[in-house]
Amino acid sequence: MASFSQQLRISSRGDGDVVDLTADVARVVAASGIERGIVAVFVPGSTAAVTALEHEPGGLQDLRAALDRLIPRDGPYEHNRLNHDTNSHAHIRAAIVGPSESVPLEAGRLLLGTWQQIVLVDFDDRPRERTVIVTVVT
Ligand code: ZN
Repeated sequence: MASFSQQLRISSRGDGDVVDLTADVARVVAASGIERGIVAVFVPGSTAAVTALEHEPGGLQDLRAALDRLIPRDGPYEHNRLNHDTNSHAHIRAAIVGPSESVPLEAGRLLLGTWQQIVLVDFDDRPRERTVIVTVVT
């Protein structure tokens, strides 16, 4: 089994900022020389997530609105109370969406749908510098 890994540095605005990683991930796959396998995209940190979606303004706004309804910014959160913190909603949103996505590769291409991009979603309540780990395995 061969593997290849690179890290991406991503500046995010936080507060549900969605950053399209697809072109960066494709560049790592090309650099790996691996034609068939899986690419795993993982973000370390408990207030950010990696998922796949259609990266268009309406869909992004709908995702933010749905998460606002499901997990409001303000609430009687124990994390905020016990830690004098303000971002419990971000931890919960990140846990539900999840920190990673895996995509199969064929002929060196990501087998994504036509309207499907790999994105970083930063839920923290302030701008952040993120590292995203991209690992290609065959
Ligand atoms: Zn926190």
